[in-house]
Amino acid sequence: MKENILDLSKEELSQIIKPSFRAKQVFQWIYHKYVHSFEEMNNLPKDLRTSLEEKYTFTPLQIVKIENSSDGSRKYLFSLHDGYTVESVLLPMKKEEFDEEGNLLHHTKYTICISSQVGCKIGCSFCLTAKEGFKRNLSTGEILAQVLEIKKDNNIAQNRRVNIVYMGMGEPLDNIQNVSKAVSIFADLDGLAISPRRQTISTSGLSSQIKKLGLMDLGVLLAISLHAVDDKLREELMPINKAYNIESIINAVKEFPIDARKRVMFEYLMMKNVNDDIASAKKLVKLLDGIKSKVNLIYFNPHFGSTYQRPEEKDVKAFQQYLIDHGVLCTIRQSKGLDISAACGQLKEKTKKELENDHA
Ligand code: SAH
Ligand code: SF4
Repeated sequence: MKENILDLSKEELSQIIKPSFRAKQVFQWIYHKYVHSFEEMNNLPKDLRTSLEEKYTFTPLQIVKIENSSDGSRKYLFSLHDGYTVESVLLPMKKEEFDEEGNLLHHTKYTICISSQVGCKIGCSFCLTAKEGFKRNLSTGEILAQVLEIKKDNNIAQNRRVNIVYMGMGEPLDNIQNVSKAVSIFADLDGLAISPRRQTISTSGLSSQIKKLGLMDLGVLLAISLHAVDDKLREELMPINKAYNIESIINAVKEFPIDARKRVMFEYLMMKNVNDDIASAKKLVKLLDGIKSKVNLIYFNPHFGSTYQRPEEKDVKAFQQYLIDHGVLCTIRQSKGLDISAACGQLKEKTKKELENDHA
């Protein structure tokens, strides 16, 4: 089978394509001009184009479905070469702004949320992705292509940098090799030029892998899906907590190298009457003592068959206020795209149901 060109770093490519400046040109065609064939790379000699065509394929993803939300976010369902599907979301975080004379102050700022695996092994009880079990890791190229295809589909110019969050389907640190390679290729200045400081890896807390990632010293940002402040509840929500408890996660975070201007993000998924009380907020403040952190509160998004419920706004606000009053930075995640089956795994589930209905 042909190899996918997106699986290769520029350094690897320059070992294969001589002279090595050709690798740089190929990279620019793919990541700046968004081409999907070697034929279009017209500054490359014809025989090189032909030999590359024989060895490599291009995008490993096809768009199956796009859902638009009223807040401007767009959710993508992509199919892979073996028929599996994964989701990614384009999130406009800050609209473009003009000054009084109509000059553009800044373009719309985008964040793209991407998947790292088909399914997930971790098995969190609140998560839809967990229900399908684990199918396979995404390749580096499949990780990169999500951003590339979304930039292309939305005509986002190559020099407009986007932020990346590895918060789609799958556990990125369970696919650390392909994910860390993607982090570096994303950062290549002849490619998408997305600095690791604009990339956030979200993990359910595989402490040993957090340490491993820290040792790689990529400069990537870290988000911990904490969701509970005591081990008993966390084990119920996230069985992985039996292997890596809260203390081990906190210790791994304390050792993680992080840019002096940045913070480790702690995600806290709020579920009604499960973890949305002030006593939990109090414990959270204690846990985060001594860590340069920020907390992001997330409303649980109910899905078909889920036993948990969305928390009340007043409880989320009170939880946030408690943290702020005790010196912890805390934001509430705006439920981007709540009307488009927000959380990971939900677009996929919906499409499956629609397809079943179509065939009924
Ligand atoms: N596996 C990694 C990254 C992907 S999960 C991790 O768990 O961190 C991305 C985020 O989606 C996690 O923070 C998870 O808690 C959240 N999530 C999962 N199910 C959700 C739901 N039903 N409503 C809202 N957020 C959900
Ligand atoms: Fe996997 Fe993250 Fe879902 Fe847990 S929340 S099952 S780690 S994708």
